Amino acid sequence: MYLQRKLNDKLVLYKGLRFGYKTTQKTKFTHKVTVGIGGNIGDVKRRFEHLFYFLKKSKKVEVLQTSSILKNPPFGFREQDDFFNALVVLKTGMTPMQMLKYLQMVEKKFGRKRSFANAPRSLDLDIIFFDNANINNKRLKVPHPHWRERESVLIPLMDLYR
Ligand code: ADP
Ligand code: MG
Repeated sequence: MYLQRKLNDKLVLYKGLRFGYKTTQKTKFTHKVTVGIGGNIGDVKRRFEHLFYFLKKSKKVEVLQTSSILKNPPFGFREQDDFFNALVVLKTGMTPMQMLKYLQMVEKKFGRKRSFANAPRSLDLDIIFFDNANINNKRLKVPHPHWRERESVLIPLMDLYR
Protein backbone atom coordinates (compact mmCIF):
# COMPACT_ATOMS: atom_id res chain seq x y z
CA MET A 1 0.00 0.00 0.00
CA TYR A 2 1.22 3.45 -0.86
CA LEU A 3 0.32 7.01 -0.02
CA GLN A 4 0.15 8.85 -3.33
CA ARG A 5 1.00 12.48 -3.81
CA LYS A 6 0.41 14.10 -7.19
CA LEU A 7 3.18 16.69 -7.70
CA ASN A 8 1.85 18.04 -11.03
CA ASP A 9 0.08 16.63 -14.09
CA LYS A 10 3.08 14.38 -14.90
CA LEU A 11 4.69 13.43 -11.60
CA VAL A 12 3.35 11.22 -8.80
CA LEU A 13 5.20 10.32 -5.60
CA TYR A 14 4.47 7.00 -3.83
CA LYS A 15 5.41 6.53 -0.19
CA GLY A 16 5.21 3.14 1.52
CA LEU A 17 6.82 0.97 4.17
CA ARG A 18 9.80 -0.01 2.00
CA PHE A 19 10.09 3.26 0.12
CA GLY A 20 10.39 6.10 2.55
CA TYR A 21 12.33 3.72 4.85
CA LYS A 22 15.20 4.49 7.21
CA THR A 23 17.08 1.92 9.31
CA THR A 24 17.47 2.34 13.04
CA GLN A 25 20.31 -0.17 13.21
CA LYS A 26 24.02 0.56 13.41
CA THR A 27 25.88 -0.32 10.21
CA LYS A 28 29.18 -2.14 9.85
CA PHE A 29 30.34 -1.22 6.33
CA THR A 30 32.30 1.95 5.65
CA HIS A 31 31.30 3.16 2.18
CA LYS A 32 28.04 4.96 1.51
CA VAL A 33 26.55 4.48 -1.94
CA THR A 34 23.47 6.16 -3.37
CA VAL A 35 21.92 3.91 -6.00
CA GLY A 36 19.33 5.14 -8.49
CA ILE A 37 16.75 2.48 -9.34
CA GLY A 38 14.39 2.68 -12.28
CA GLY A 39 12.11 0.65 -14.49
CA ASN A 40 9.11 0.86 -16.78
CA ILE A 41 8.10 -2.70 -17.70
CA GLY A 42 5.34 -4.52 -15.84
CA ASP A 43 4.61 -3.97 -12.15
CA VAL A 44 7.66 -1.86 -11.30
CA LYS A 45 6.64 -0.94 -7.73
CA ARG A 46 6.29 -4.65 -6.97
CA ARG A 47 9.73 -5.33 -8.47
CA PHE A 48 11.17 -2.54 -6.30
CA GLU A 49 9.66 -4.24 -3.23
CA HIS A 50 11.38 -7.50 -4.21
CA LEU A 51 14.62 -5.62 -4.76
CA PHE A 52 14.32 -4.06 -1.29
CA TYR A 53 14.08 -7.52 0.32
CA PHE A 54 16.87 -8.88 -1.88
CA LEU A 55 19.17 -6.04 -0.76
CA LYS A 56 18.11 -6.44 2.90
CA LYS A 57 19.11 -10.11 2.73
CA SER A 58 22.36 -9.51 0.84
CA LYS A 59 25.55 -9.96 2.84
CA LYS A 60 27.38 -7.47 0.60
CA VAL A 61 25.30 -4.40 1.37
CA GLU A 62 23.23 -2.86 4.13
CA VAL A 63 20.16 -0.76 3.36
CA LEU A 64 20.43 2.61 5.13
CA GLN A 65 17.56 4.51 3.60
CA THR A 66 15.17 4.60 0.64
CA SER A 67 13.31 7.49 -0.96
CA SER A 68 9.69 7.48 -2.05
CA ILE A 69 9.05 6.24 -5.60
CA LEU A 70 8.57 8.85 -8.34
CA LYS A 71 6.43 8.10 -11.39
CA ASN A 72 7.60 10.23 -14.31
CA PRO A 73 7.24 10.29 -18.11
CA PRO A 74 9.98 8.69 -20.29
CA PHE A 75 12.62 10.82 -21.99
CA GLY A 76 14.70 10.03 -25.08
CA PHE A 77 12.62 7.29 -26.65
CA ARG A 78 9.09 8.59 -25.84
CA GLU A 79 6.89 5.73 -27.11
CA GLN A 80 7.08 3.71 -23.92
CA ASP A 81 5.42 3.50 -20.51
CA ASP A 82 6.07 5.90 -17.64
CA PHE A 83 9.12 5.32 -15.49
CA PHE A 84 9.28 4.65 -11.79
CA ASN A 85 12.41 5.85 -10.02
CA ALA A 86 13.72 5.86 -6.47
CA LEU A 87 16.99 6.09 -4.57
CA VAL A 88 18.40 3.44 -2.26
CA VAL A 89 21.21 4.41 0.09
CA LEU A 90 23.46 1.47 0.89
CA LYS A 91 26.53 0.84 3.01
CA THR A 92 29.11 -1.53 1.56
CA GLY A 93 32.66 -2.77 1.85
CA MET A 94 32.96 -3.16 -1.92
CA THR A 95 34.99 -0.88 -4.20
CA PRO A 96 33.10 1.23 -6.79
CA MET A 97 33.99 -1.24 -9.57
CA GLN A 98 32.87 -4.22 -7.47
CA MET A 99 29.67 -2.32 -6.67
CA LEU A 100 29.02 -1.76 -10.40
CA LYS A 101 29.48 -5.48 -11.11
CA TYR A 102 27.26 -6.38 -8.17
CA LEU A 103 24.49 -4.05 -9.43
CA GLN A 104 24.76 -5.50 -12.95
CA MET A 105 24.39 -8.99 -11.49
CA VAL A 106 21.26 -7.81 -9.63
CA GLU A 107 19.82 -6.20 -12.81
CA LYS A 108 20.26 -9.54 -14.57
CA LYS A 109 18.64 -11.42 -11.73
CA PHE A 110 15.64 -9.11 -12.00
CA GLY A 111 15.29 -9.83 -15.69
CA ARG A 112 17.02 -6.94 -17.41
CA LYS A 113 17.95 -7.42 -21.05
CA ARG A 114 19.98 -4.70 -22.75
CA SER A 115 18.62 -3.52 -26.11
CA PHE A 116 19.21 0.14 -26.97
CA ALA A 117 19.89 3.39 -25.09
CA ASN A 118 16.84 4.76 -23.21
CA ALA A 119 14.88 1.62 -24.12
CA PRO A 120 12.21 0.17 -21.80
CA ARG A 121 13.78 -1.77 -18.93
CA SER A 122 12.60 -3.95 -16.09
CA LEU A 123 15.29 -2.74 -13.68
CA ASP A 124 18.08 -0.20 -14.10
CA LEU A 125 20.54 0.29 -11.25
CA ASP A 126 22.93 3.24 -11.41
CA ILE A 127 25.54 4.42 -8.94
CA ILE A 128 24.66 8.07 -8.35
CA PHE A 129 27.19 8.81 -5.56
CA PHE A 130 29.91 6.69 -3.94
CA ASP A 131 31.14 8.47 -0.78
CA ASN A 132 32.44 11.68 -2.31
CA ALA A 133 34.48 9.89 -4.96
CA ASN A 134 35.02 11.30 -8.43
CA ILE A 135 35.46 8.51 -10.96
CA ASN A 136 35.65 8.94 -14.69
CA ASN A 137 36.65 5.91 -16.70
CA LYS A 138 35.16 4.00 -19.59
CA ARG A 139 32.99 1.71 -17.43
CA LEU A 140 32.14 3.96 -14.52
CA LYS A 141 31.34 7.64 -14.04
CA VAL A 142 30.63 8.82 -10.49
CA PRO A 143 28.82 11.04 -9.58
CA HIS A 144 26.39 9.91 -12.27
CA PRO A 145 26.84 12.42 -15.16
CA HIS A 146 23.19 13.48 -15.36
CA TRP A 147 22.10 13.57 -11.72
CA ARG A 148 21.75 17.38 -11.62
CA GLU A 149 19.41 17.46 -14.63
CA ARG A 150 17.07 14.60 -13.88
CA GLU A 151 13.85 14.99 -11.96
CA SER A 152 14.05 11.22 -11.51
CA VAL A 153 17.11 11.78 -9.27
CA LEU A 154 16.49 15.26 -7.83
CA ILE A 155 12.98 14.68 -6.49
CA PRO A 156 13.86 11.37 -4.72
CA LEU A 157 16.99 13.14 -3.41
CA MET A 158 14.91 15.93 -1.88
CA ASP A 159 12.73 13.22 -0.39
CA LEU A 160 15.78 11.53 1.23
CA TYR A 161 17.05 14.66 2.91
CA ARG A 162 13.71 16.12 3.88
P1 ADP B 1 21.70 3.85 -18.62
O1 ADP B 1 21.72 3.58 -17.16
O2 ADP B 1 22.49 5.06 -19.02
O3 ADP B 1 20.32 3.89 -19.19
P2 ADP B 1 22.85 1.18 -18.85
O4 ADP B 1 22.22 0.88 -17.55
O5 ADP B 1 22.63 0.23 -19.98
O6 ADP B 1 22.40 2.62 -19.36
O7 ADP B 1 24.40 1.36 -18.57
C1 ADP B 1 25.32 1.49 -19.59
C2 ADP B 1 26.74 1.50 -19.00
O8 ADP B 1 26.90 2.62 -18.16
C3 ADP B 1 27.12 0.35 -18.12
O9 ADP B 1 27.64 -0.72 -18.85
C4 ADP B 1 28.18 0.94 -17.18
O10 ADP B 1 29.48 0.47 -17.45
C5 ADP B 1 28.11 2.43 -17.48
N1 ADP B 1 28.14 3.32 -16.32
C6 ADP B 1 28.92 4.43 -16.25
N2 ADP B 1 28.75 5.07 -15.09
C7 ADP B 1 27.83 4.36 -14.39
C8 ADP B 1 27.24 4.52 -13.10
N3 ADP B 1 27.57 5.57 -12.32
N4 ADP B 1 26.33 3.61 -12.69
C9 ADP B 1 25.99 2.56 -13.50
N5 ADP B 1 26.52 2.34 -14.72
C10 ADP B 1 27.43 3.24 -15.17
MG1 MG C 1 22.19 2.00 -15.89
